[in-house]
Amino acid sequence: MVRNSVQGSIHSVPRKETRLPPLARLFEHPHSSLKQAERAMETDHREWTTEEVAALFEQPFPDLLYTAQTVHRRHHDPTRVQASTLLSVKTGACSEDCAYCSQSARYETGLERESLLDLDAVRAAARRAKAAGASRLCMGAAWRGPKERDVGALEAMVRTVKEEGLETCLSAGLLKDGQAERLAAAGLDYYNHNLDTSESHYAEVVTTRTYADRLDTLEQVRRAGLKVCCGGIVGLGESRADRVELLKTLANLPEPPQSVPINRLVPIPGTPLEETAGVDPLEMVRTIAVARILMPASHVRLSAGRESMSDELQALAFLAGANSIFYGEKLLTTPNPSQDEDHALLARLGMAFQPSEPCRREARG
Ligand code: SF4
Repeated sequence: MVRNSVQGSIHSVPRKETRLPPLARLFEHPHSSLKQAERAMETDHREWTTEEVAALFEQPFPDLLYTAQTVHRRHHDPTRVQASTLLSVKTGACSEDCAYCSQSARYETGLERESLLDLDAVRAAARRAKAAGASRLCMGAAWRGPKERDVGALEAMVRTVKEEGLETCLSAGLLKDGQAERLAAAGLDYYNHNLDTSESHYAEVVTTRTYADRLDTLEQVRRAGLKVCCGGIVGLGESRADRVELLKTLANLPEPPQSVPINRLVPIPGTPLEETAGVDPLEMVRTIAVARILMPASHVRLSAGRESMSDELQALAFLAGANSIFYGEKLLTTPNPSQDEDHALLARLGMAFQPSEPCRREARG
């Protein structure tokens, strides 16, 4: 389920020994033209190397943002932002040890535990989210993964939210054989399962499950025909090389995730990462820009940590290619900007929320 630092630096890449594809080669010219960018992006780039991704991160900020914007405009309306509301359907007492998480039973975070929500509460939350303008309800359950007896309850939640005309996303940990298919049959649209960080840094963050476990769940989700929501967290004490590795892994999945949440660590008192130093906000923007370039068609979501970002930083993140946000005053257990603040910011930027898929279909008749 969900959710600073020492910014490391990647080893510099000896470019003359590296066979860069056209897009990466573009960045050897600091004042590249739009024409060059367009030509480079026509390349059907299927497999990214570490050197290529690192080269993107190292670009001068104006060049990086320029390309990210150009890619973004080819695939998306830059004035539209998709809005998802997050609902915790089972809170706290999680057996896992994710070092950033307030919901782990291993840390004293003062979080109040709540058992599985009933369907009336889920329906009421879906109605509130829709009335406020969200197009998707993301439901998060704090556990290692659903037990067989839980799957029926999750299926009923999915059906309930669909009845209210919202897209559905579920974040419920590791899945066992057959569970993804059952959720898909109930109408689930997206399954969220974040990689969190690079494989190299992973053991510093989580020890109760492996990177391979995570990749296996993502494979099950894909095979069941569900859309994948998968991203990571900036600020877990990782280096830039880890951010490079994380984004490369995401982009090189058999199919890039349709939704890519990029979170900024919200340090929670009582967790092992409570005193982690923050990452330079511009590094967060760089991470979003690189994600946009590597995964052009995906929705890149500016996720946890937005509450502590200035309006200007959020605007920069949108310029870098972020086109999705979590919307609502709470993100499972951490604060988020108020809905009024989000509406005001989008209005100042001349931007608006993207309608949900069913609404867009209706609009096309
Ligand atoms: S698996 Fe448990 S500890 Fe890890 S992020 Fe999810 S709720 Fe938190």
